[in-house]
Amino acid sequence: MAHDVIIVGAGPAGSTAARVLAESSKHVVIIDKAKFPRDKLCAGGVTSKVIPLLPPGFNDIIISSVHKTIIHYSNTDLRVGIESIEPCTYMVERAAFDMYLLDAAITSGVKFIEGKRVIGFWQDSKGVEVYTDPPDTFKANYLIAADGAMSRIHSQTFSQRQPYNAYCLEAKIPWSNQNDEVIFNFGSTPTGYAWIFPKGDYASIGLGVRSKNISNIFEYYKRFFDMHGIKWVKPKGLSLPMYSMETRLTHKRVLFAGDAAHLVDPITGEGIYHAILSGSMAAKAIISGGNTGTTYQTMMNKTILKELRRAFFLSLIMYHFPRLSFEALRLHPSIGKTYLGVITGENTYKDLLKTSTHSPYKILKHIIKCLQADQLSVR
Ligand SMILES: Cc1cc2nc3c(=O)[nH]c(=O)nc-3n(C[C@H](O)[C@H](O)[C@H](O)COP(=O)(O)OP(=O)(O)OC[C@H]3O[C@@H](n4cnc5c(N)ncnc54)[C@H](O)[C@@H]3O)c2cc1C
Repeated sequence: MAHDVIIVGAGPAGSTAARVLAESSKHVVIIDKAKFPRDKLCAGGVTSKVIPLLPPGFNDIIISSVHKTIIHYSNTDLRVGIESIEPCTYMVERAAFDMYLLDAAITSGVKFIEGKRVIGFWQDSKGVEVYTDPPDTFKANYLIAADGAMSRIHSQTFSQRQPYNAYCLEAKIPWSNQNDEVIFNFGSTPTGYAWIFPKGDYASIGLGVRSKNISNIFEYYKRFFDMHGIKWVKPKGLSLPMYSMETRLTHKRVLFAGDAAHLVDPITGEGIYHAILSGSMAAKAIISGGNTGTTYQTMMNKTILKELRRAFFLSLIMYHFPRLSFEALRLHPSIGKTYLGVITGENTYKDLLKTSTHSPYKILKHIIKCLQADQLSVR
């Protein structure tokens, strides 16, 4: 039977697209190579701006809520705390979170095929065909590619692979500290940051760097463990498809969403929000009819892409001048407050840019003072 839409990948992007389509009575099949529930390498931080996009039942899978973030600068005593009254981020286990999103899609009427790897597709003016292993063929009017960071659909569609511009390592460690503070460390790794996300009796400890610094990634990771007096645990690693100017969203009857579209925030590495929002917009573009590709591109330009472009330029400054950026944050609590708003969805990166350049004279004076005292290393 031909469906309205085939979705490849049942992560947050795919399951959200599937649910939104099924709620509008579209016939949808979602195919995943894994058997669910499946794990996904991720720190599992869901920012509060994601909440309005979620189906009911999210509260049942929250492990902890974050009210306080501590930002450390490298291996120094320098740190800045950012606190919020309402939780700004919720900690989840990805296996449970992705199962909950998929269950909501299935309840809405989506057909789920698991344990089948998509190995290729074909499209013409009438529709799409998707081929799997074990062998099967699925037909539909549209294809949503939500098959993650190593997207098979993306590499078949665009002859030139988009560069995977970042790489992450992550491990779970026992965590006896009952404190739910999230820790970020800037400057301990060039062009990236390290994190500790507590989740009750264990924590996710990880680190991300731009691809150009990947050769020393294990060294940076080990150093971060040493800094916090944590016993070394062997991590797993995965590419992080950050947004860049080369990000492409459509090709005829194919719409790309989430990591398959390279929509990870270049500053924070956040991808769940963009996966869910892009999945929802891809679905809405198909529901609206007309020129689906153009509608999707326009919707994305007005929302996610506008923000990610600003994040991209801000990230160039932040990760080239980590100490300078840290000093600006330390000196101006309003920057931290605005940044918190970006996490919760109350502010945008435009607001952050505005706040960060609010008192350049004061920041410059402080930086010159630090330079004179030889305290400021600019990478
Ligand atoms: C170490 C690490 C930590 C992270 N921490 C955070 C965080 O704390 N917060 C945050 O917001 N983001 C985080 N991210 C990013 C986040 O994990 C991703 O952006 C998010 O999972 C993207 O969702 P998705 O639905 O696009 O893809 P995925 O969640 O990767 O889902 C893709 C699905 O496609 C399936 N698939 C792939 N290929 C095929 C195929 N050929 N055939 C059939 N099925 C296929 C896979 O099995 C998978 O189920 C982190 C990433 C990493 C690597």
